[in-house]
Amino acid sequence: MPPFAELAAGVRRIVAPNPSMMTGPGTNTYLMGETAVAVVDPGPAIPEHIENIIEKSTGSINWILATHTHPDHSPGVRQLAAATGAEVLGIPAPEGAQQDKTFAPTRILADGDVLETDEFRLEAVHTPGHASNHLCFRHAELNWLFTGDHVIDGSTVVINPPDGNMKHYIESLRKCRDLDCAALAPGHGEVIEDPVRAIDWIIDHRLEREAKVLAAVEANPGLTTRELVPHVYTDVAPHLYRLAERSLLAHILKLEADGVAHRVNGTWRA
Ligand SMILES: [Zn+2]
Repeated sequence: MPPFAELAAGVRRIVAPNPSMMTGPGTNTYLMGETAVAVVDPGPAIPEHIENIIEKSTGSINWILATHTHPDHSPGVRQLAAATGAEVLGIPAPEGAQQDKTFAPTRILADGDVLETDEFRLEAVHTPGHASNHLCFRHAELNWLFTGDHVIDGSTVVINPPDGNMKHYIESLRKCRDLDCAALAPGHGEVIEDPVRAIDWIIDHRLEREAKVLAAVEANPGLTTRELVPHVYTDVAPHLYRLAERSLLAHILKLEADGVAHRVNGTWRA
């Protein structure tokens, strides 16, 4: 992936230098506008990346938006805001680990809120699931959706309870599908040109896994979440079971919320 790209009129992407197993090529930072610029997801607080954002902005940076407050998306906000005096928009971090508590929005966004500039209009779409405070942003002129970690290119995202919520995640995917956007600009990886197909694939993949979880609970009543892992993730190596257990928990909590599975003394029954 190129470290810098012009994606459409007035829309540029800079990849933060934080590649890893969880972030792919790195976090995508998006710049919108020529004379007055909005920045989406400055990424981690890496000084060279923040300088690069300022350098690549053709106009003054007036707004900084965060899709959510995981450590690879929002910690750069504070530095960028201090350097530019920009307004900060988003939803503060919820309780829990792996949350950026330094994120301090000057304008707290809710579903449907709009940032209107002379050059473009961005609409906030609340998409809880990967994170309870997750927002996507729809660029109205392009009809593109900036999806943060809600939809990423080339892999599935982690749903880690309790802040991660599988039921909300699937509902939020359906909500984005219904927007009928022309493209998705994700927080990691390349622009996704066929949003409906990409979103359908994710929903199908998640529901297939859910069916596997339910079948495992039915076949093996009275197991804990940990004990269920090898029955569901038959394709996963044992050293990844801890991660798989978080995912399995997300699925089974959805089944519980749907009234299909229930808990007895820390074990599961259909
Ligand atoms: Zn995230």
